[in-house]
Amino acid sequence: MNTTDVIIVRYGEVALKGMNKPYFERILMERIRKAIKTVADNRDIYVDKDGGLVVIRGDINEVKDELIKKTLKVFGVASCSPAKSLKRLTHANEREHPAAAEDELNAIGEVAVAYIKELIESGKVIRKLAQAGQAPNNPQLANYTFKVDAKRADKTFGITSPAMSKEIGGIVLKALGDELSVNVHNPDILLTVHLKQAETFFYDEKSMGMGGLPLGTNGKGMVLLSGGIDSPVATWMMAKRGMRIEAVHYTSYPFTSQRAQEKVEELASIVASYCGNFKMHVVNLLPAQEAIAKHCPEDEMTLLVRRFMMTVAERLAIGMRCDVLITGENLGQVASQTAASLVATDAAVTIPVMRPLIGLDKVDIMDIAREIGTYDKSIEPHEDCCTVFLPKHPKTRPTKEGIEKSLALIPDFEELLDKMIESREVVHIEAQ
Ligand code: ATP
Ligand code: MG
Repeated sequence: MNTTDVIIVRYGEVALKGMNKPYFERILMERIRKAIKTVADNRDIYVDKDGGLVVIRGDINEVKDELIKKTLKVFGVASCSPAKSLKRLTHANEREHPAAAEDELNAIGEVAVAYIKELIESGKVIRKLAQAGQAPNNPQLANYTFKVDAKRADKTFGITSPAMSKEIGGIVLKALGDELSVNVHNPDILLTVHLKQAETFFYDEKSMGMGGLPLGTNGKGMVLLSGGIDSPVATWMMAKRGMRIEAVHYTSYPFTSQRAQEKVEELASIVASYCGNFKMHVVNLLPAQEAIAKHCPEDEMTLLVRRFMMTVAERLAIGMRCDVLITGENLGQVASQTAASLVATDAAVTIPVMRPLIGLDKVDIMDIAREIGTYDKSIEPHEDCCTVFLPKHPKTRPTKEGIEKSLALIPDFEELLDKMIESREVVHIEAQ
């Protein structure tokens, strides 16, 4: 039987989107095409849809692992499986007849036998068992167990899913009975047979994606991106819900170094491997810090600098048509993140501020950072603009009025803001 190699891609929440489903599917496919572009270029590889599944087809054999790795990074993808596809044999008008179904089942059975044979002969079953610490003592004499799990997505097919599983299992046993026996609870080999309208898929493994929603389905956010652990995770979490990203990073050059900025660019490029290439505005905060140090109470330094950060970010966000600001703030983590402090920084802006990490514990944030690959870069030492002019005893119970009064002490506040924004550097961050 002629089969072709494909990769099937399942999507989770996108499938629940009712009327909007075609729109979400279209964007998801575009995102997958973009994600695999560097691998698929110069090859005849294409992405299409088969009723509730996305399928990557064509000349995929030599680059299968790479394609799967890239696809699993696309938000909205629930899981991927390398699979074999067999074109449906029966025509739609004869599918109700059990006899026609029987013919098709025999063809499916033939593929199932070849598939399982190949799994055993290529050593894949042994490798899998060895990984689970269950390798047989003598592979030559090993008698593996298997199970066929059939799913009939095409309900016009004349045989139910359980009956299909049984029949295909019977065909496999007949052909390979010397080497195999059935175990429905914990089989060494689990072959899934997924019967769809136009083709039948066969697969034995599944790699999990990150879920979420396709990028570009939920507005755009301006993230305040530092070199720390939190803000890259916050960026990833919002992008995972479909939000496109642009970033602002603050330096205190020359108190902070060029190397510190490069580190943030490297970190940003790891984040970009999930949320796509984006622009990062690099703003030197030093003029604001100097003005605050000169004119305002010392114990309010940290908060006043944060107010500046928020105001600059808001102006950039409006200019770049972003809907919200995003920060890596988290309730109670440090002095500037008490409830009162968050309220005071919020008051700097009218644009909504999203803080996706607000209720997470630090250990949980660190776990996500490790999972998405930003952690090691984040913990590399770097100077941060926030540590320049650090007050000895920062205020933890600021009032909005108090902070505003202090800011009013800075002469030419507006001019200062304009200058800082005008002299920013725009860096194009590309996915790693
Ligand atoms: P992070 O790990 O993200 O640096 P943090 O725990 O160190 O966070 P803070 O330094 O108080 O916390 O910063 C809180 C948030 O303010 C950060 O998550 C980030 O969104 C923003 N922020 C801090 N420093 C900068 C910076 N240099 N440039 C841009 N945004 C910043
Ligand atoms: Mg920080």
